[in-house]
Amino acid sequence: MTQRVVPLSDYRNRSTVRVPDRHIEPRGILNDRLQRSLRDLRISVTDRCNFRCIYCMPRDVFDQDYAFAPQAALLSFEEITRLARLFAAHGVRKIRLTGGEPLLRKNIERLIAMLAAIQLPDGSPLDLTLTTNGSLLERKAAALKDAGLTRVTVSLDALDDAVFRRMNDADFSVAAVLAGLDEASRVGLGPIKVNMVVKRGLNDQEIVPMARHFRGSGHILRFIEYMDVGNSNGWRLDEVVPSSEVVARINALAPIVPIEHNYEGEVAQRWRYADGSGELGMISSVTQAFCGSCTRARLSTEGNLYTCLFATAATDFRAPLRSGASDALLSNLIAAVWSDRSDRYSEVRGAQTEGRAKVEMSYIGG
Ligand code: SAM
Ligand code: SF4
Ligand code: SF4
Repeated sequence: MTQRVVPLSDYRNRSTVRVPDRHIEPRGILNDRLQRSLRDLRISVTDRCNFRCIYCMPRDVFDQDYAFAPQAALLSFEEITRLARLFAAHGVRKIRLTGGEPLLRKNIERLIAMLAAIQLPDGSPLDLTLTTNGSLLERKAAALKDAGLTRVTVSLDALDDAVFRRMNDADFSVAAVLAGLDEASRVGLGPIKVNMVVKRGLNDQEIVPMARHFRGSGHILRFIEYMDVGNSNGWRLDEVVPSSEVVARINALAPIVPIEHNYEGEVAQRWRYADGSGELGMISSVTQAFCGSCTRARLSTEGNLYTCLFATAATDFRAPLRSGASDALLSNLIAAVWSDRSDRYSEVRGAQTEGRAKVEMSYIGG
């Protein structure tokens, strides 16, 4: 096959991707070098946030001088939807909107309605979800549901208000997030997943109160191991609370048993209370890496495509989008990037990855 080199540049990242000259018809399945298929797309709709979570956007780095992406640099809703449709043709079944804080993006409901209208090749509906810090959810939940959002994931790191305020470093209360969560549940955006990042010495004492609070609620509480994403959070291995320890602490509250995955590529290990009072999830990306089943691609606010959360480089889709690229070229570019992928950062974390300049979590979303 003849190949030509298409250099695609961006002011933050540079990458060179070999794009086949002839059009490769999407077949609804695309495998990378490690035989992992492309199934999920996470789209960051803003790199801004009204929180300053200390593990994600520490205030001393993300201060008033921080250069967030200007409005003109963001992919428009039309550009996002065009790409999403092409990704769906290549096998993406699930789209998660993230950020930054996705509910800060103006008229996000309009984007949701546009994405919800995408037809999958086999006629089944796209699973369209969103991860939010919950602060604006009480106001927006009904409009999000009406626009076609399927479900929502809400992040909440503590029930104790003082601990939570220390973690979000922006004076948001637990009550505001819980009100958003209740409203989302009321309008039918459940079952809701609740994400809790656990950092030793900061909020690990909240593991059991959080478990107690959400047990029997119908919501699925997921404990996330604190990760070394980006370069600004000063991550240390001794601040990670291994999922095995979380499981042990909850077991002391009430016995839990592991259950099967729902689908290939599911990031959380599922657990349920033995007495039937609900489900829990453990996301153990540090102590039990799951790269072997990683089916996720990540599109940044500015249209850079990352094939790993810990990537150091990306492929720019905005430049071709804005210079008249055809659907065939964009589709080939998706195929070229994914087929060439061999990322497995969490499996090789350590000496090999130290000192690497990684992308920030708030830029590509979780
Ligand atoms: N602002 C939204 C929120 O917080 O839900 C969406 C974006 S946030 C980057 C997505 C998820 O990543 C959140 O659940 C957050 O807690 C998690 N996260 C951020 N930094 C993390 C880190 N260093 N380790 C583990 N999870 C992290
Ligand atoms: Fe904002 Fe979410 Fe990062 Fe917290 S985790 S700073 S809410 S993007
Ligand atoms: Fe996927 Fe990269 Fe995370 Fe491994 S480290 S699971 S390849 S995003």
